[in-house]
Amino acid sequence: MTQSLSVKCKLIVPVESRPRIDETLRGFADACNQILAVAKRDNCWNTTKLHHKVYKPVKEATGLKANHVCQAIRRVINNAKAVKQIHKFRSTSISLDIRTFRYVEKSQVVGVTLKCGRVDFKLSIGGYQMALLRGQNLTSATLCKSKKGDYYINFVVEIDTPPTGKTPKVIGVDLGRRDIATTSTGKSWSGEQIQSVRDRLSQTRANIQRKRSRSSRRLLRRLSGRERRFQEWLNHNISKQLVQEAKSRDAALAFEDLSGIRDTLNKKPTSKTERRRTNNWAFYQLKMFVGYKAAIAGVLVVFVPPAYTSQTCSRCHHVHPEKGKSYRNGKKFKCGHCGFEHDADINAACNIADLGKSVSLPESPGIVCLLEGQLPLFRLA
Ligand SMILES: [Zn+2]
Repeated sequence: MTQSLSVKCKLIVPVESRPRIDETLRGFADACNQILAVAKRDNCWNTTKLHHKVYKPVKEATGLKANHVCQAIRRVINNAKAVKQIHKFRSTSISLDIRTFRYVEKSQVVGVTLKCGRVDFKLSIGGYQMALLRGQNLTSATLCKSKKGDYYINFVVEIDTPPTGKTPKVIGVDLGRRDIATTSTGKSWSGEQIQSVRDRLSQTRANIQRKRSRSSRRLLRRLSGRERRFQEWLNHNISKQLVQEAKSRDAALAFEDLSGIRDTLNKKPTSKTERRRTNNWAFYQLKMFVGYKAAIAGVLVVFVPPAYTSQTCSRCHHVHPEKGKSYRNGKKFKCGHCGFEHDADINAACNIADLGKSVSLPESPGIVCLLEGQLPLFRLA
């Protein structure tokens, strides 16, 4: 099995070369916009058909190289869904393929075909990137310009992932009840920090909105970007620690599969927390990050049905019949059957871990509620 990964590398660009890259970026954005206009006008979203319509006029109008135009067509088609809503491509990045870039490992140089011809740039990278790029047969990359005006190239690399074996050990992860994430091993990542950043940003936003000027609109856009980047940074951190812990314990990771219940859940009146847990793209992103980091580390990730995870006692597995306050007192879970008391989030994470075991190791005994006369609800095995 392999996993694709994007490796971001900074380019060292001498001042005199900057206008050349910018010119190409502008040309590429122009090409995309012209192609998009034709695709929309003729409602044509097929690569070959669109190619026949736009290739010649776009190449003449922009002066780009043939391969750039082909990549522009591909960019428009690949983003067809998103592109139908946005009106304009901005000149911040250009897609490159095997014919428009070449990475030379020995000298850490990348040759990029620009509008004016081929130009070599030295890469400013560390050991981490070098190790990922070593021996790679690179066929796809994107050249980007950051808001600060720096230039980067993102290489797409394919790495072999180690096989994920069966393991009897599972770490359950409960997402977003009180904290962002809580594990059955007792670790948690507080939502307080991100909430305080959100509060601070929304305060700033409210202040800016009162002014309502052109520059304030630009500032608002930047703020939302900052919030997104903070969330992304946080998710990278949490997912890294989760995968590291699983790896060091030779364990699998188990999450609730919240995707399937989204539709039915939204129809019923549900609590705010419950809706936040299912619809939040931040949790989706966290699971994605965990997914690819786990694949690289050879850690198994399983998904379990989310029903009853917070209502079940993780010691005696008695399922409390309704979501209520009797067994859940704020942060604490108290079992009405055996009297077991535990942190509510960790209790849920333990149940997720137990369910995960029956998914990762189907021959294990599964989970049974021991209460007399009660049917075993959790016999998944
Ligand atoms: Zn109990």
